[in-house]
Amino acid sequence: MSIIHPWIILFDIDGTLLTVDRNFNRPLLRSIIDDLGIDYPGMEKDPFSGRTDHDIISSFLVNHDYDEDLYQTFKEVYLERIQKEINENHVLRHEHIDEAIDFFDRPGFVTGLLTGNYPDAAIIKLKTANIHHEFAFGAFGEFHKDRNMLPQLALTSIKDMLTVEPDPQRFIIIGDTPRDVICAKSAGMKCVSVTTGKFSRSDLETHGPDLIIENLKDPADWFEKLTGEKVQA
Ligand SMILES: [Mg+2]
Repeated sequence: MSIIHPWIILFDIDGTLLTVDRNFNRPLLRSIIDDLGIDYPGMEKDPFSGRTDHDIISSFLVNHDYDEDLYQTFKEVYLERIQKEINENHVLRHEHIDEAIDFFDRPGFVTGLLTGNYPDAAIIKLKTANIHHEFAFGAFGEFHKDRNMLPQLALTSIKDMLTVEPDPQRFIIIGDTPRDVICAKSAGMKCVSVTTGKFSRSDLETHGPDLIIENLKDPADWFEKLTGEKVQA
């Protein structure tokens, strides 16, 4: 018999809660690529949306046989430098995110992160954007290149944390890219798409999320639309 557990609300970071200025991020990566003598001329044109940090950084090493030591060095340098160099002018904090984070901070809900970021990068970006909510757990893109592996991490965390058999249908992934939708569907989780990232409503619609919203405003309304459950705002 399965027990009904709280709703698990999983926030993506980039494009959903905040956006890091491309004019900060790309030159930072370029300078690490060059400092480490990596042959990867095309980075500036690569799409990063919805990809894990592990996948993005590994992909720079295509001309170096994906050397594992070089990957580890890159990761270390990246985390050191982002910590040192990022400031609030580099980060756009999306509107209405507090409303949603505060709304789900109540009994019957657990809030977590499901993001392609390395855990340290996630913390640095959130702090810089002045987001200090304590998410109960995170499924991060540290050890998996494939975003579709992240829901499994979330299921395991909840199983350990709540000691229940997790029901994917009570997990809601909130993200801005087709990859968020695909990864939610691959795990049987619900997906809310926001158009605060690079993708339009019609881009996202193609992938069939359960709901598409412009931003995280009025969470009681969109939560009810999604689940049929009324929760006092
Ligand atoms: Mg995103």
